[in-house]
Amino acid sequence: MMAAILVKNGRVIDPAGHTDRMGDLYIENGVIADLPQRLPEHTTMIDAQGKIVAPGFIDLHVHLREPGKEEAETIETGSRAAAAGGFTTIVAMPNTTPPLDTPEILAWVLDAGQRRHHIRVLASACLSVQRKGLSCADLQALAAGGAVAFTDDGSTVHSREVMEQAMRQAAALDLPIMDHAEDPLAEHHGVVHQGQHAERTGLPGIPSDVEISIVKRDIDLARETGARIHIQHVSTKEAVDLIRAANKDGLPISGEATPHHLALCDEDVDPTDSRYKMNPPLRSRADRDAIRAAVADNTLQAFATDHAPHTAASKQTGFLTAPFGIIGLETAVGITYTVMVDTGVMDIASWIARWTTGPAAILGLPAPALTPGSPADIVVLDVTTPWTVNPSLFISKSSNTPFGGMALKGRALTTISRGTIVYPLQKDE
Ligand SMILES: [Zn+2]
Repeated sequence: MMAAILVKNGRVIDPAGHTDRMGDLYIENGVIADLPQRLPEHTTMIDAQGKIVAPGFIDLHVHLREPGKEEAETIETGSRAAAAGGFTTIVAMPNTTPPLDTPEILAWVLDAGQRRHHIRVLASACLSVQRKGLSCADLQALAAGGAVAFTDDGSTVHSREVMEQAMRQAAALDLPIMDHAEDPLAEHHGVVHQGQHAERTGLPGIPSDVEISIVKRDIDLARETGARIHIQHVSTKEAVDLIRAANKDGLPISGEATPHHLALCDEDVDPTDSRYKMNPPLRSRADRDAIRAAVADNTLQAFATDHAPHTAASKQTGFLTAPFGIIGLETAVGITYTVMVDTGVMDIASWIARWTTGPAAILGLPAPALTPGSPADIVVLDVTTPWTVNPSLFISKSSNTPFGGMALKGRALTTISRGTIVYPLQKDE
């Protein structure tokens, strides 16, 4: 039997239950329970005085790199990093080697995630065979194998026909398509946002249009097919406007904002430091502000890290040749809290919702809650003590982040997954 846990004297914020109260939270046998008259022997006590107690966070967008690039991250290190970051559920992206385009390889990843016992590792399967965009993967078999979504993340299905087929099947399966919106036919060799700051740095630019055109196309297709479309890592104000208008029309279009697109813009890019290189790129200040506003007004219902580990050696090859992407699991809470709540852009309960009920709704999962009987996925957060990002302390195998040295507020102190403390790791583990 799992030990009971009593989280004492915290500020318990539960967006699903619309509650925000001072008090205790009691956990027994992996679920939240009513506080008993007498506590069982060996109840673990967690002092949450002055801290926030919330449902465990969900990250819709994580690259675990296994199989294929274990030198950058593994399912083990990635899920431990997630637990340290306050996450109890993550969704692994399928652009591994081989990609997750068959039930067999999907099952391998899901089994590996489960064996680690840290957190829940879910996975999105590929949209197309080998992520080539030429024909649909067997979405029905992948759904039966446990895929929670379909995506070719890292690339976009360029054929309207294939995308339409995939949408019809996903709609029938009632699963979302996660859409990496970047027109693959637009000719550019860009590495930063196209605009005056690209000219300043001398680096080639990525036009905003590559995102806007695909968001437009896929909203049109969603209208025709009834599919649920989730736009990944929204980076442009125009895409935000399109999603907002689609929602007004009642279409099931959702979107996510990454911590880096909320915190930074093209003006911050150091052209000698490839840790500022990601796709989509850091866009203009106006884009950044539009994304902040869209998260605040719930046009973008979820934060997501797009945690993209790369080895130091591969990132040190220069801005033009280094791979796109930065890590995010261990800084996401701090960056989003600091940028969005500490500055007053949104309130703390809405911030928690974008990390919990928002992503759960996008995935069609039950809303995470802190009511008796709910699975005990819980994070205890310190949102008052400043801390400084030190990538050498990360649990992730990689340290490619531009946020090293940044002072943040907001950090997970304790993460509980299904009634087990998974961060910090306990002595006997
Ligand atoms: Zn992507």
